[in-house]
Amino acid sequence: MDRTIEAVLFDRDGTLVRDVPYNGDPARVEPMPGAREAIMDLRAHGLRTGVVSNQSGIGRGLLTEGQVRAVNARVEELLGRFGTWQICPHHPDDGCACRKPAPGLVFAACEALGVSPERTVVVGDIEADVVAARNAGATSVLIPTEVTRPDEVERAPRTAADLRAAVGMIL
Ligand SMILES: [Mg+2]
Ligand SMILES: [Zn+2]
Repeated sequence: MDRTIEAVLFDRDGTLVRDVPYNGDPARVEPMPGAREAIMDLRAHGLRTGVVSNQSGIGRGLLTEGQVRAVNARVEELLGRFGTWQICPHHPDDGCACRKPAPGLVFAACEALGVSPERTVVVGDIEADVVAARNAGATSVLIPTEVTRPDEVERAPRTAADLRAAVGMIL
């Protein structure tokens, strides 16, 4: 990476944990392979970590904010504490400034961590994560999953096979 990186912001579903659509059940939280080791490695190197997550299930009336908080708490039990959590609760039709690919969550996370977007990497599994990073002036790493569209993978500036490999690129 051609910049000094101080913070890494992760998408939650399909990146830190397996994507269970509109999950409101902490018991169904399952880390992606190597997630804990990769994130501990970042923290051991002094990098800040955060989460930037679209949770439109709230705006769609499928999830409560309390359920999302409970799932997030379970993620922290499994992966350790993150320096900031930035969640977009809005429906896609709301036209908010935070739902990725808009940069609002990235800006808010950087402000909360006291780092500049230029020194931040966003790690995600779909193009909305990549574009949110670009719109904020941050760097992105795409980790494709079985649901990531091939054209999105092709357009991504940087891809990694898994979280371990993504962290290897950052450190
Ligand atoms: Mg995702
Ligand atoms: Zn929003």
